[in-house]
Amino acid sequence: MPKYADIAFPTAVRRLFTYEIPENLGEVKLGVRVWVPIRNYNAIGVVVKVHEEVPDFEVRPIRKVLDVTPIVSQEFLKLSHWVHQFYFSSWGEVIQAALPAGLNFTSRKYLKPKDELEINLLSKEEAEVVKEISVQENQGYDEAKKRWKGTGLSKTLNSLIKKGFLEIWEEPNLKVSIKTEKEWNWVEGKNHKLASDFLNTLDKEPNKWQKALKVLTEVGLPKKQSELKSIAEFSPHTLKRLQGEWITFQEVEAEIQDLNLDFDPGSIKSLNTEQEVAFRRIAESLGKGMFSSFLLYGITGSGKTEVYIHSLKKALESGKGGIVLVPEIALTPQTVARFYRVFGDKVAVLHSRMTNRERLHAWKALKDGTKQIAIGPRSAVFAPVQNLGIIILDEEHDASYKQMDPAPRYHARETAIMRASINNAVVIMGSATPSMQALQMVKKSKSILLELNKRHAEAILPEVKTLDLKEYKSAKKGELAVPLFMAIEEALSKKEQVILLYNRRGFASYLQCETCGHIPQSPECSVSLTYHKRKNMLMCHYSGYSRRVDTVCESCGSNALTVQGLGTQKIEEELEEFFPDARILRFDKDSTSRKGAHAKILKQFEEGEADILIGTQLVAKGLDFPNVTVVGVIDADTEQAFPSFQSTEKMYQLLSQVSGRSGRGKKTGSVFIQTRQPENTAIQYAKKHDHKGFSKDEMSFREELFYPPFSRLITFVLKGKKEHQVSQAAHILRGVINRVVPDFDVLGPSASAISWINGNFFWEVTLKIDPDKGAKYIEALLEKVTDIYDLESPISTAVVRININVDAIR
Ligand code: ADP
Ligand code: ZN
Repeated sequence: MPKYADIAFPTAVRRLFTYEIPENLGEVKLGVRVWVPIRNYNAIGVVVKVHEEVPDFEVRPIRKVLDVTPIVSQEFLKLSHWVHQFYFSSWGEVIQAALPAGLNFTSRKYLKPKDELEINLLSKEEAEVVKEISVQENQGYDEAKKRWKGTGLSKTLNSLIKKGFLEIWEEPNLKVSIKTEKEWNWVEGKNHKLASDFLNTLDKEPNKWQKALKVLTEVGLPKKQSELKSIAEFSPHTLKRLQGEWITFQEVEAEIQDLNLDFDPGSIKSLNTEQEVAFRRIAESLGKGMFSSFLLYGITGSGKTEVYIHSLKKALESGKGGIVLVPEIALTPQTVARFYRVFGDKVAVLHSRMTNRERLHAWKALKDGTKQIAIGPRSAVFAPVQNLGIIILDEEHDASYKQMDPAPRYHARETAIMRASINNAVVIMGSATPSMQALQMVKKSKSILLELNKRHAEAILPEVKTLDLKEYKSAKKGELAVPLFMAIEEALSKKEQVILLYNRRGFASYLQCETCGHIPQSPECSVSLTYHKRKNMLMCHYSGYSRRVDTVCESCGSNALTVQGLGTQKIEEELEEFFPDARILRFDKDSTSRKGAHAKILKQFEEGEADILIGTQLVAKGLDFPNVTVVGVIDADTEQAFPSFQSTEKMYQLLSQVSGRSGRGKKTGSVFIQTRQPENTAIQYAKKHDHKGFSKDEMSFREELFYPPFSRLITFVLKGKKEHQVSQAAHILRGVINRVVPDFDVLGPSASAISWINGNFFWEVTLKIDPDKGAKYIEALLEKVTDIYDLESPISTAVVRININVDAIR
């Protein structure tokens, strides 16, 4: 039997720690949580390896095993190990990210009087404190501190701890527990027949509890407390009267995810010809139980979701489970309802606004197989679905699939592919505007392309018009060029709805020429230069290139360069002024940060309680409102100006998605794009709904400059309080990287696009590596870089932190 266990802790430290397995613990299984001493305290970790290798250092024994059955499966250990290597995070961080808060690794400190403490040696105050603490078992340390805070005894408490009379111990904090409720049933020997017979013998009008009993004979038992509560005849009083004589209860797990949605499996739609072809191909792979990856490339409204539903159903029929990943923002009641209608309570919805308890319930239901489908944003890729057969990634190109901060900085697309391959499962990546990464997989035969080219039924793609803001300088109402303004007026008069989109990304700002629309670019990297106000400089945050702010436009020589990209919130006020009778809703990060606010806003709009919805790029994603006939983009150029190699792609995606929002019902819609660069390729292709043309252009740009998918970017983000230290550390790091991988391009060091936040300076170094290298290679490379850096750099990582981001996107 293995004598040693390697433990992962949920800290940033990447290495594992070895402990001895004491004989009295018997077999310690992989994936269980254990409680172990570390330095001068105890902590919770997960057993990720067991072995017989005798360590060449002294090891301490595991104190306690906390789980009977492993909290994470073997399959998950494999997956998390891959994430640990590929994204260079600690293994424990990956495991923690996958567990619901109620099951994580936190511990609670409590106080315990020293063994054989002699009370009569203590002062009067000391004795008082010790006595109070002894009354309660495991008196919490924090609670004790709070309790005596501000009183004279606070000092006494501290001195008792200092002297060692009181010891601080820790225990796992498993605060969140499963919620239970009463389930009522007949007491032994009674049943509904006996109850009816009894009621028939009554000669008087039944009293309250007898009426309640009558209801029970009608609705039948067992019934949960929550179900009885909604029946008028039941009060705590009547239940009490019936309890013992007629009915009794037991505590069962409460159903807390009350989705309150329609369940109607018969409503599943039959597929049209195109959908059927795609589905057959997927079903074939499902049948073989072999790993395969599909890119379902279908225009908006072509019915990708219907293909997902049929594929999922097929997987379930063969006893498998499935995961449906959607961008966080698309996790709307509309989406959930479509899956719920077909799969009912097989579905567990996981979203970021759940309470810890709801999360724990959903997690357990998946783990024990009560539910077979998980729907959620990127972290749902880790959901403990049993016997996983299919993973669906809707809107595969969406940026929210990449976790940026904190670690693990994983990408859900790559992680889903890895998980599917571990499980011999099928992955479907769906998009109307596939990412260059996904298209590259198709090109390299790592993924199979399936296309849907027609919108279902008669809905047709809307007409897209560009409005050149240079021409409408004087023909504008506030931010709206006259044609857009008039279209809104007309839509409102016909009682149709309008969506307006403005972009306000959290980065500094940029310059744009008012005469020709040009945005200054970095000469080497072809990304827009960021305007840094403090230094009055234009800077490239990839290469570090910088120059003084131009006085004349490098493209046309005009001197009309102006700072752009600042907030456009005033547009809401303007609209209120121009359209005083219209009901306006705002939809952005600020207005949707409250729990449920997001869903509420969408519901209001869907039910026609508002005429105009204005919002950030969030409105573009996954929404389906048949009464929307006008969509306007206030300033498309803000997206192009974003300092990233992906900015053109993002702009293209945004514009095509937003166009897809219009005319989804029977009414045809129109889309207006306001811009100063109407000739921009992203706009041109989005207008024609020509993703193929766009991606061909974009791919050749990427290939020429060695951007992904032709390389993989690893970004080192350095952060510290003093700029000269951050910059120095960045230069040292660049030197180290150059030595470790002399064959690959290194960009930077350079100040980040947002170079200063809350007293911290940010610098970056970016490395481009061969995209075909795997997790082992990446881990070895990064270990070497960080080891050498730690050895050579005079600046400790406590002063300048380095975060490593593999596949960094923006
Ligand atoms: P996508 O996910 O590609 O944007 P959806 O699945 O949302 O497209 O489909 C758009 C609309 O067309 C939805 O209202 C959907 O119910 C309808 N639809 C798609 N396919 C079918 C079908 N085979 N039969 C009936 N309605 C369909
Ligand atoms: Zn110009």
